[in-house]
Amino acid sequence: MDVFDYHEYLEGRFRCVAERLARSDAAFDRERLRSVFLYACEAHEGQSRKSGEPYIIHPVETALIVAEMNLDPDSVAAAMLHDSIEDTKVTHQDIKSRFGQAVADLVDGVTKLTRVEYTSKEDQQMENLRKMFLAMARDIRVIMIKIGDRLHNMRTSEYWEEQKRREKSLETMNLYAPLAHRLGIQTVKWELEDLAFKNLDPVAFKEISDYLTEQEAHNEAFLNHIKSILTARLEEAGIQSAIEGRVKHIYSIYRKKYSQNKSLEEIYDLHAVRVIVETIADCYNVLGFVHDLFKPIPGRFKDYISTPKPNMYQSLHTTVIGREGVPFEAQIRTWDMHRTAEYGIAAHWQYKEGVSSDNRELNRKLAWVRSLLESQQDTDPEEFIKAIKVDMFADDVFVFTPRGDVINLPLGAGVIDFAYAIHSAVGNRMQGAKVNGKMVSLDYTLQNGDIIEVLTAGGSHGPSRDWLKMVKTNEARNKIKQWFKKERHEENVAEGKADFEKELKRTGISMQTINEVLQPALKRMSFSVIEDMYSAIGYGGLTVTRAINRFRDELVRLNKQRPVKVQIEKSRKPKKAVSGVIVEGLDNFLIKFSRCCLPVPGDDIVGFITRGYGVSIHRSDCVSALRMRQSEEKGRWVPVQWAEEIKQSYQTDLTVTAHDRASLLVDVMAALSAAKLPINTLHARTTGDNMSIIRLTAEVSGSEQIAALRNDLARVSGVTSVKRE
Ligand code: MN
Repeated sequence: MDVFDYHEYLEGRFRCVAERLARSDAAFDRERLRSVFLYACEAHEGQSRKSGEPYIIHPVETALIVAEMNLDPDSVAAAMLHDSIEDTKVTHQDIKSRFGQAVADLVDGVTKLTRVEYTSKEDQQMENLRKMFLAMARDIRVIMIKIGDRLHNMRTSEYWEEQKRREKSLETMNLYAPLAHRLGIQTVKWELEDLAFKNLDPVAFKEISDYLTEQEAHNEAFLNHIKSILTARLEEAGIQSAIEGRVKHIYSIYRKKYSQNKSLEEIYDLHAVRVIVETIADCYNVLGFVHDLFKPIPGRFKDYISTPKPNMYQSLHTTVIGREGVPFEAQIRTWDMHRTAEYGIAAHWQYKEGVSSDNRELNRKLAWVRSLLESQQDTDPEEFIKAIKVDMFADDVFVFTPRGDVINLPLGAGVIDFAYAIHSAVGNRMQGAKVNGKMVSLDYTLQNGDIIEVLTAGGSHGPSRDWLKMVKTNEARNKIKQWFKKERHEENVAEGKADFEKELKRTGISMQTINEVLQPALKRMSFSVIEDMYSAIGYGGLTVTRAINRFRDELVRLNKQRPVKVQIEKSRKPKKAVSGVIVEGLDNFLIKFSRCCLPVPGDDIVGFITRGYGVSIHRSDCVSALRMRQSEEKGRWVPVQWAEEIKQSYQTDLTVTAHDRASLLVDVMAALSAAKLPINTLHARTTGDNMSIIRLTAEVSGSEQIAALRNDLARVSGVTSVKRE
C-alpha cells in the first residue's frame, strides 16, 4: 500500500478553504476556522469511509464546496462539522459553547435532514418532498450545505454498493439537482446531474463522453476560432470583455438527444460561448456584433436581462451559425449577472447583516420563495436578495404514510386530520395512531417527517364528537359532520334539542314564544320540521346561536308595532354581549351593525334606537350618522361601547388603488394570504389611466387588524392608497 500523507493532504485542503473564504472577506476569522477544523479532525478520529480514507476528508471537502458556493464562514464551519452530531459523540451543546449558536443551529439543521429517509418517489411525490425538505431546513444555508454534502458523496459514489448508488443517484436527480437549480447554483446542478446520470445510465453516459473526447480537438479549435473573431471585433469597438468557450454538460446533451430524437452529430448547440462585459449597455452592443458576425437562428433569441428567470438568472441568449454551418449558443452577461449565475442567491449573501426580524419583510420573501419553488415566471428577483433566514412553508407540515407517500397538511394538524386526508373511511374507522412506530394520543400534533400509521377497527365504529375540537382541517371537520348527519339521526335530534332548549333558557325566551314564529323561522332556515333543525344542531351543521337569532329576527318582525321594552341595567360595567356591543343602561337589545360604515371593535361608536329593529351601531365619524344626528331624531341616539370580550369577527371593506402592472393581483393576494384573514369578496378593475382599483371585504377582529392589513397592502409595489370605506 502506498504511503499517503493524509495529514499533509488535509492541511492543504484546509488552506484551500481558508483562501476561498479570504477572497470574499479578507478579514474573516482564520483562527476560529482552524479550531473548527482541528475539532472536527478530533471528533472523527479513527473513523474511515468506504474507500478506506480517513472520514474527516469528507467534511473538509464538503466545506471546500460550500466555500466555493460563496457561503459565509459560519456555513463553512458547519460544513466541517456537518456529520459530527450524527456520527460522533459531539452534541449541539458542545458546538454551541465552542463555536456559537449560529454554527450549532446550522449543523443541527443538516443533521435533521440527514435523519429523514428519501427513497425514490413518483413524480407527483417529488414536489412535496422538495417542499418538505425546504420546510425542515428553515435556513436556506442548511440546504446549501446539504447540497455540498451530497455533491462530495456523489463524487465518491463508486465506493457505494450497486443498489445504494442507484437510489442515491435517483434522489440526486430528483431532489438535489432541482434544488440547486432553483437556488441558481448552475455549476453544482450540472455536476450533480452528470454524476447521477453516469450511475443511472452508464452506457449512454459513456457514449456521449467518448464522443466528446473524440471531438475534443475539433471542438476546441471551433471554440477558439469563434473566440478570436469575437475578441478582435470587441477590441476594435473598445469593449472590455472576457470570453469563455465550453461544451455543454453531458446530461444536457443527453436530454437534447432524446427530446429531439437526434444522433449526437445532429445535435444543435453542443457548444456555448460566454461573453462577460462591464455594463448592460455593452451586453446589447455585443449581441449586435454577434448577430453581425454570425447568422442568427430565428426564434432562438432570449432576453433574460429584461425578464430574469425565477432563480434570478440574467443573460442574453442567442443561437447562431458558426464555421462549417455548426450552430453554437452565445450567452452575454455582466460580471454581476455572472456571479448570480455561478452562486445563485449566495451571490447576494450579506451574512453580516444578520437575520431580519421584521415579519412583514419575511412574509414578502416568503411569497417570493414560494413562487420561486412553484416556478412562476413573473416574480421580482430583487425581493429575495438579502434573505438569510427563510421560513418557507411555515404554515405547512409534511408527513409520511407507512408506504412513504408524503401528505401535506396545515401546521398544527393532528393524526385525525391525517386519517381523513387519506380517506373518510379511514378516519371514520380510526381507533388510534402510531407515529414513528409509537402509539400516540389522538391530539398529537404532527411534526415534519413523521411517519404515521392509522389503526382502524372494523364494523360500525365511528368518530367521536370530541374530534371536532381536535381537527385543524376543514376536510376532516366536514367529513366528521357528514358522518354524524348520516349515521346518527336520532341521537342528533336528541342532542340538538337539548342544546337548543338549554340556550333558550339562558336567553330567557320561552318555548311558547318560539312557537309563535316557528313556521316562518324554520322556513327561513330551509327546514320543514323542527326535528331537522335539531338534527342540524346535533351534527354541528348549525350553531344554536344562529338558530335562536333567526327566531329573534322573526319575533322582532312580529312585534314591529309594539313599543320597544327596555330594562334599566344597574351595573355600568361592561359585560359579555353576544354582539360584542354594550348599550349603556339597556339590556336585551337587538344589535345591528350599519352597512354604511361597518364598525369594528376599536372604532369609536354610537347607537341609534330604530323603530322596532333594536339598536343600530355606527362609527362616530360616519357621514350618514352625523347627518342623522343633526336631524329631529337626535333623542334616539344612545352611548354604546364595545364589550370586553368580543368573539365574533366583523366585516370591513377596503379599496386598494395601484398602478396597474403584471402580477399586481398575485402580489395583493400574497399579502392577503400572509395576513391570514378570511376574505369574503374581491373585485379588481382597471381604469383608463393605467390604475387598478381592487375592492375587497375581509373579516377582522377589530381596528388593529384593519390597520395592520392596510399597512401590508400599502407595501405591495405600485400601491398608492388603501382606504377603508
Ligand atoms: Mn456527510
